[in-house]
Amino acid sequence: MPRTYVDDNFGVWDNMDDPDHREFYHQVQRESVRKKCQGCGRMVRLRPSYGICNSCAERAERGGDY
Ligand SMILES: [Zn+2]
Repeated sequence: MPRTYVDDNFGVWDNMDDPDHREFYHQVQRESVRKKCQGCGRMVRLRPSYGICNSCAERAERGGDY
């Protein structure tokens, strides 16, 4: 079973058999800080420049209220 890569910044990561992509994933994890999502109020790990988690971002893309 291939490992599934998931985080609060981007949700599910694809193409993780690419070493460069895996390196980027680990970089994002290092940059991420524990913060409260401005959308749903959950404690999540996000990059400092991100204010909302992936599930809120997806909801916004579907025409939500952010
Ligand atoms: Zn959220």
